[in-house]
Amino acid sequence: MSNINSGRRKLLAFGLLAARGWRHAVAAVSAKPSVLDTGAAPLSELNYGQVRLSDGPLDRQARENHRLVLDLDEDSLLRPFRVRAGQHAPGRELGGWYDTYGFAPGANFGQWMSALSRYHAITGDAQTRAKVNRLVRGYAATIDAKGSFYINNRFPAYTYDKLVGGLLDADRLSGDDAALATLARATEAATPYLPPRAVPRYEQPVKHGEDLSEHAWDESYTIPENQFHAWRVTGDQRHLELARRFLYDEFFGALARGDNVLPGKHAYSHVNGLSSAAQAYLSLGTPMYLAAIQQGFEMIAAQSFATGGWGPDEHFVTPDSGALGASLARIHKSFETPCGAYAHFKLTRYLLRITRDARYGDSMERVLYNTVLGAKPIEPDGHAFYYSDYTRGAKKIFFNHRWPCCSGTLPMIAADYAISTCFTDPRGIYVNLYVPAQVTWSQNGGSCGLIIETDYPYASAVLMTLRLPGAQVFTLNLRIPAWAQGAEVSINGKRETPSPQPGGFAAFRREWRSGDRIELELPLAQRLEGIDAAHPQTVALLAGPLVLMRILDDDDGAAAALPRASLLAAQRDRGGKHEWRAGTGAGSVLLKPFLDISEESYSAYQDVLPS
Ligand SMILES: [Zn+2]
Repeated sequence: MSNINSGRRKLLAFGLLAARGWRHAVAAVSAKPSVLDTGAAPLSELNYGQVRLSDGPLDRQARENHRLVLDLDEDSLLRPFRVRAGQHAPGRELGGWYDTYGFAPGANFGQWMSALSRYHAITGDAQTRAKVNRLVRGYAATIDAKGSFYINNRFPAYTYDKLVGGLLDADRLSGDDAALATLARATEAATPYLPPRAVPRYEQPVKHGEDLSEHAWDESYTIPENQFHAWRVTGDQRHLELARRFLYDEFFGALARGDNVLPGKHAYSHVNGLSSAAQAYLSLGTPMYLAAIQQGFEMIAAQSFATGGWGPDEHFVTPDSGALGASLARIHKSFETPCGAYAHFKLTRYLLRITRDARYGDSMERVLYNTVLGAKPIEPDGHAFYYSDYTRGAKKIFFNHRWPCCSGTLPMIAADYAISTCFTDPRGIYVNLYVPAQVTWSQNGGSCGLIIETDYPYASAVLMTLRLPGAQVFTLNLRIPAWAQGAEVSINGKRETPSPQPGGFAAFRREWRSGDRIELELPLAQRLEGIDAAHPQTVALLAGPLVLMRILDDDDGAAAALPRASLLAAQRDRGGKHEWRAGTGAGSVLLKPFLDISEESYSAYQDVLPS
């Protein structure tokens, strides 16, 4: 215990140093013009329980996933850990990747423990908390000194990292009093099976019969993020040592220098790895790690689809090489959706908090509406949505194998919508996502409320109403997306001048009163975005943050090319449905956002006639 206390004291001292050194640290990154030298500490996240999503697609997806993880059979969840420890293991195998000797035994266990803890924090549901408590104790009982679980296990680093996240969330969000002691034992058991350092992922599959302990597909470079958290919470130096040992400095250093080393690398796990660099920056204050995530983000953005997704066939391509456009003809695995979106949300949350640059919120919003929010719900038997498909004539399908990685991340990201909505600093609140919600936060020592009502991004109007304990001075910061030319803000019916500039946060500082109404109008500009220079006639149609995808008749075959002007002039259905129509010489084509597509065939990108 004395170790823990002295570690905590050191951490506090470090925190003060970090706060003093902040301006220097941010200013030292001179290569990135998008960095705002705010001289301030990062924006704070709200707690999960401070954002109540109201009716809408985000709330629906969160509820579905809460129900899914709550219904998972506990004996099945614990079976890979029990069998591998040579213990009695009642119940059936869960199936698919999760099985005791499956592709990734027990790999989602920690993620589902995280998700349950987060849903408990959101809803306060006692059943959810009780399940977390049982899982922590059930798992603790399987840990043995030999680390039997990790013997001949393909993914020791991956599985251990998710367990760390789950146990930390069980402690922080469900108040589980056994979680940290279990974390210490879990770390002892796993450590001998971890590689000596961050091992680059080999790009070739493991050959039959090859020793699985070679970590060929493991993702050890994602370990530090949770280890920094664990160090902060426990003060245990072993976590700081593990965090440092697995920092992938060869990769981060190259990105920080502006050297694009992404092409050919496994996409999701390297973006997830960038969250370790973000935590390294926040924990150690080393400017290189901030430069790495900023430059890394730019390199990802330069090779993203219009949806915000990236990494066809799970790998990064060379920007402007024509590879992205070429992928539309043959690669159905366009974007690893729940895992990729989870990593993208974390990265953009860190970047937004550190730099206060609204474009990271724009990027998060695109990924939200055009990818993960349109994922098919996970079925109780483990069939899960994995890849978004951007080929012509695509369909939403389940992955071949049950309980894949993406069934671990979808329940977590749906819980994280809550903490991605708004952020705070001592001067006020930042509204990042315009989603129907009731937000509470602490301002000037009082509990303040913000009610957001909107049908955005289907409608351009967002109404926000304040609920305050009395008159309060603070700043309300509203993200104005870069595409939102002509945005307007009215407060209590009076239009604010000058109009807010797109591509930043519009700040309104004043004495606010309870009942004040803020109306935001974000004109949902329709525009075309090309895929790359090598494919000039291939474009996506956007309306606000939404990519409108063409719905194809099943027996249509290849869809005919359209004039650009016809596509751009697509009209929303007058009856209020989430459908658009673009006129052609011969009739019209139907377009829908990704989240409104179910069984239909669709094309994310459209061929247009040479102009
Ligand atoms: Zn996945």
